Amino acid sequence: MERLRQPESDHACPDQGAGVAGLTVAHELAVKGMEVTVAEVATQPGGGASWFAGGMLAPWCERESAPEAVVSLGRKSADWWDAALPGLVVRKGTLVVAPPRDTAELTRFAARTSAFDWLDGEEIGGLEPDLDGRFRKALFFRNEAHLDPRRAISGLFDKLAAMGVAFHFGAAPDFPGAGFDHFVDCTGASAIGQTADLRGVRGEMLMLETPEVTLSRPVRLLHPRIPLYIVPRGNGRFMVGATMIESDDSGPISARSLMELLNAAYALHPAFGEARGRNRGRGSPCFSRQPAALRKRRRDHPGQRVLSARLSARASDRDGRRGPYEHFTHSEIPTTIHSLFPKRPAV
Ligand SMILES: Cc1cc2nc3c(=O)[nH]c(=O)nc-3n(C[C@H](O)[C@H](O)[C@H](O)COP(=O)(O)OP(=O)(O)OC[C@H]3O[C@@H](n4cnc5c(N)ncnc54)[C@H](O)[C@@H]3O)c2cc1C
Repeated sequence: MERLRQPESDHACPDQGAGVAGLTVAHELAVKGMEVTVAEVATQPGGGASWFAGGMLAPWCERESAPEAVVSLGRKSADWWDAALPGLVVRKGTLVVAPPRDTAELTRFAARTSAFDWLDGEEIGGLEPDLDGRFRKALFFRNEAHLDPRRAISGLFDKLAAMGVAFHFGAAPDFPGAGFDHFVDCTGASAIGQTADLRGVRGEMLMLETPEVTLSRPVRLLHPRIPLYIVPRGNGRFMVGATMIESDDSGPISARSLMELLNAAYALHPAFGEARGRNRGRGSPCFSRQPAALRKRRRDHPGQRVLSARLSARASDRDGRRGPYEHFTHSEIPTTIHSLFPKRPAV
């Protein structure tokens, strides 16, 4: 595997893209005392996949379809968020349920994951009173956590601005240009189509609001074809997600996906049938399931070193193999940045 080399200078570092990856990179660079400029094509932070995410910090559940590295790396994520933005992370675990006719899905899920407890109907009701009597069995992943990604983005943006990080919104897509020895590329799905081994997976979600249901933690509803989840956002608001469709389309949600998401919510609790839509459902391409090879070299500045930091935990293949270039999950960003950039005293 080609390793990234230590930068030879400690110039001010531009960081392209203000999604959760770009803001995390900017945070780690700023903590090191570097001068950071974040260039973002949109007019505010979080215009990409990060705005639509479930915010589940759920590596043990992800292991169902991801390599072991996702667990070993992902388990550090909640601690990073707690340290960066105290009070944001909710550590109440994940509940995984299935309708009685799909109980075999629970057994299959259990066989591919670890660090869970089996719960019976009474224990489910003890954890989530509103689900009392609705499911006979569940898996409880008590070590998992979640956060509201929109609050995370706003919180990081405010913190970075207070730390002196410069933001350049409405930036040209090729900003930053000449004059820098290196920059960090965190432009998310924009690389789809630029490399043969990266393809888009469209995730569609919607927000519902109802005072009739209270949940304390993300609940995954297994289904042989369409496994979905509901993440509580507080004050009767819920994120329902997410489809996984082979496409890099970022347009509005399709009628079929809307029906599937609403069906899942209704199957979890019929009171969701009376819920109100908070906004139009959206889709956003976010990651590839192919091996990662996401570093690109710019034709206009061939000598410039480009790091590519993309949150695509599922971009490794099932055997955990990586492509020939470095690729980062969120949990890898701090150690990678700290090892690559020379230490400077905070100003
Ligand atoms: C519906 C849905 C649910 C999800 N749920 C979860 C979950 O529960 N847990 C989880 O861990 N992950 C989840 N994900 C995945 C997660 O959202 C992504 O992995 C993560 O947000 C990617 O972050 P990013 O910063 O790499 O990309 P993005 O958030 O897409 O940010 C990229 C940024 O770069 C900007 N940009 C693009 N091109 C340029 C350019 N040329 N110059 C400057 N700026 C540019 C974009 O405007 C954007 O702001 C979900 C994704 C979706 C779509």
